[in-house]
Amino acid sequence: MTPKEPYLLTPGPLTTSLTVKQAMLHDWGSWDGDFNSVTAEICERLLEVSGGSASHVCVPMQGSGTFAVEATLGTVIPPASTTLVLMNGAYGKRIGKILDMLGRPYIAIDKGDYHPPRGDEVAVALKENPEVEQVVVVHCETSSGILNPIQEIAGVCRQAGKRLIIDSMSAFGALPVNVAELPCAALVSSANKCFEGVPGFGFAIVERELLSASGGQCHSLSLDLHDQWRYMEKTGQWRYTPPTHVVAAFLQAMREHEAEGGVTGRLDRYSRNRDRLVAGLRELGFETLLADEWLSPIITTFLAPNSPAFEFHRFYDAIKARGFLIYPGKLTVADSFRVGCIGQLHDEQMDAVVTAIAEACRELGLQVPVPAPVAAPDNLETV
Ligand SMILES: *Cc1c(COP(=O)(O)O)cnc(C)c1O
Repeated sequence: MTPKEPYLLTPGPLTTSLTVKQAMLHDWGSWDGDFNSVTAEICERLLEVSGGSASHVCVPMQGSGTFAVEATLGTVIPPASTTLVLMNGAYGKRIGKILDMLGRPYIAIDKGDYHPPRGDEVAVALKENPEVEQVVVVHCETSSGILNPIQEIAGVCRQAGKRLIIDSMSAFGALPVNVAELPCAALVSSANKCFEGVPGFGFAIVERELLSASGGQCHSLSLDLHDQWRYMEKTGQWRYTPPTHVVAAFLQAMREHEAEGGVTGRLDRYSRNRDRLVAGLRELGFETLLADEWLSPIITTFLAPNSPAFEFHRFYDAIKARGFLIYPGKLTVADSFRVGCIGQLHDEQMDAVVTAIAEACRELGLQVPVPAPVAAPDNLETV
């Protein structure tokens, strides 16, 4: 990274290592055996991380993460089958929007901006709506940073005999999941989040039996996950042009993930990043949206201080001038901003971003500790 390049404290795209970037300095033939073996190795490694090597298959899909979510929902959900969507933020809502576009029937439990969907309410909804065949949940709802209780929800789904589909976009690679044990019928993630690759493709880890039975169900030619899988099984190739450089960089990223200690190593570093950030900003008077038990090690939402001196754009620019890009808030109820903990960020960068935020406060004329936020309409401590 050149000295002037800012660190991205955003939940993907994120700051990648120099070696991941260097892995893109080579041109690959998309039909060539060398490239096919890169694809095969990536899929094998992803399956291993997911715990699904014996039961699931991994299918990559060109595009951003949403393309992979849409491909998975459109392929594995039969056209007339009803889905229960658990929403507590923008990404859960997006799943509903995709199902709307696909014309697939669904019901939703919408917990608003940041309250977690709980097992007992999912159990009630499944009992009241026996036609539901699958439940979709977001693992880490990146719009608030909340870590949803997927274990609890998986237990309820298993008991009720429903399939569970997880959007683990911003969690997989840093938070432990085992798709065979949960169990989870399909898990979707992408290259540019916790594995620290560059953006360009997503992937789904799907029960082999479920995907085998999903032929002809997809609404789309290019997003047909079953077709992509069959073609890849047969030829070793992606169906249409793959993002070759992105795929090559991702293999390097996966090697670095392994060298760091896999999911455990990454979770340790991200948790440390989050702890340093939260402690540092609390010392400056900032408050987190969520109580500690719901804070993910991925991204944290801080409430805006109640002061006319706090203008997000000026705050953002002052922090950017010091070498860090933060993220605007995505809440409907309260003014906020978000700071990510993922990517090539270590103790040194987290300490430096706290310093940059302290300096930005001074530049904006905010006294430190900053004034408390306007209380959000709900009791934030007891979510
Ligand atoms: C990043 C993300 C996505 C996908 O977003 P894209 O912009 O399409 O890559 C989906 N769900 C969650 C929870 C995410 O964090």
